[in-house]
Amino acid sequence: MHSDLIGKIEKARRYAEEPERIALDEITVRFHGGNNDHIVRLANHRWMCDCEVFHLRGVCAHIMTLQKVLAPMLSAEAREPGPVIIHSELISMIEKSRRYMHELDRIEIQTLRARFRGNNNDHILTLTDVGWSCDCATFRVWNTCAHVMALQRILAPMLPAHAREPGTVSVEEHLVSALS
Ligand SMILES: [Zn+2]
Ligand SMILES: [Zn+2]
Repeated sequence: MHSDLIGKIEKARRYAEEPERIALDEITVRFHGGNNDHIVRLANHRWMCDCEVFHLRGVCAHIMTLQKVLAPMLSAEAREPGPVIIHSELISMIEKSRRYMHELDRIEIQTLRARFRGNNNDHILTLTDVGWSCDCATFRVWNTCAHVMALQRILAPMLPAHAREPGTVSVEEHLVSALS
């Protein structure tokens, strides 16, 4: 039983080095901006933000930041830069997003839906306000799995507290922390 879990944790470690296995289909992020919080969403390969700059220009520093941070997990469409805008505005957005890149605590992932290309099968993972879920057999037993653990590692600085917890593996928790 323990060796099974240790195996999963080791697998998760390897997976965490391979973010390109993960395809983010949907994500909702609360972004703590300079003045206000903003909600940024990706769905159907398109980004949206509730900030004024996005409303006016169709692109903003919040989206640019997430495009960079999450790049290996995004589709080609979701990585595309926004519409061409006034040069000086673009420069200031790029500068802002560069700064944000080093301030990942501004980003709080609220929900997501991703496909994970495992060694044998693909799996669907979700994060909601009640926590993680994965459609693999391991998750049904342990309430966590190599796929969830890998994503927790990759996204750690951007996850709310409840999403960083190691599932409901109660007795095995000390093992998880010992190995992490
Ligand atoms: Zn924005
Ligand atoms: Zn899984």
